[in-house]
Amino acid sequence: MSNPLLRVHLSVIRRNTEAIVKKCAGYGISVWGVTKGLSAPVELAAAMRDTGITAIADSRLANIKRMKNAGIDLPFALIRIPMRSELEEMLDYADISMASDLGTLTELAALCEKKKKNHAVILMVDLGDLREGFLTNQVEEVASAVSKLNPLLRIMGVGVNFACASGVLANSESLQKLLVFGGVIESALGRKLEIYSGGGTAKSLAKIDEGLFPAGINNLRIGEGCLLGTDKCYRADIPWLQKGTMELEAELVEVRVKPTLPVGEIGLDAFGNAPCFEDRGNRLRGILAVGKQDVYIDSLTPLDEGVQIITASSDHLLVDLEECPEKPKVGDILKFRPAYPAMLSLSTSPYVTKVYED
Ligand SMILES: *Cc1c(COP(=O)(O)O)cnc(C)c1O
Repeated sequence: MSNPLLRVHLSVIRRNTEAIVKKCAGYGISVWGVTKGLSAPVELAAAMRDTGITAIADSRLANIKRMKNAGIDLPFALIRIPMRSELEEMLDYADISMASDLGTLTELAALCEKKKKNHAVILMVDLGDLREGFLTNQVEEVASAVSKLNPLLRIMGVGVNFACASGVLANSESLQKLLVFGGVIESALGRKLEIYSGGGTAKSLAKIDEGLFPAGINNLRIGEGCLLGTDKCYRADIPWLQKGTMELEAELVEVRVKPTLPVGEIGLDAFGNAPCFEDRGNRLRGILAVGKQDVYIDSLTPLDEGVQIITASSDHLLVDLEECPEKPKVGDILKFRPAYPAMLSLSTSPYVTKVYED
């Protein structure tokens, strides 16, 4: 199998997902499993399918299409607010989508009518992160507009997103505003909403036991917690999740003692940055055949004892090996744990072999 290689442990992701479903169920919260962080391989969807999640959610229609065509039999939710140009195709593949534009909703309702198809939407509400969502002061206008839509387009609920664009975190007070927004929509529709979706991993799993979610919030859309067992936005450990879900394996192509201070006039590196190095004398260093074209380097953590990342260019990752208990050789494999940005880039790169194991 060719290197570099991303080795994914599906059984660990499955156990994380099961643990999240169980934990959330204790608070009356259903979980949608979000697959986009790993570019939604069918193997992942199959591993998550029987964990108790109530839908598979992804930001890209191409991912949903692939999983659905592979026979994954859960409802699919498109969680990036849709492009006008993809609405028609979306009706063929996604059961649920997110909405924050009344014109798009009107067009979608007309397409449901034309294609005689049912579709459900979650109205997104912006509670401060300033990515997608209606503003809370638009609620009357939204309620009046959605109550006039063709019922083939079902208003399923309301949702919020935190920590994505601005790092704004959930708190009970802002979640209360989601409940109020939903209440106005319910009055206009004359019925209850099924879904009050309180966000993604950010802070939610770390603080669920401390009463972060007011009664009434009954859904979360979880990617990072399942895929990595971490919460990058809240920088919190989630002790009841496992982190060993995947590793990057890269191969050493040079190992040699070299100075730590570059020799000669310093210009800019390949990415236009002025590098800065500390003189630590001569040290053993290695070159791995993986680079910025494959992975977001800053988001890698070495798993082999004594390995430190020095820097990287497009195709080379330089590591300090001086403190390795056993000196690595050319041809040896070193392992790294990806955080979210590294997972995203590795899973997207065509140069990285993917291995999905149980
Ligand atoms: C990516 C995303 C999620 C999942 O976020 P995680 O932090 O990976 O749990 C949930 N909702 C929306 C709208 C998203 O775009």
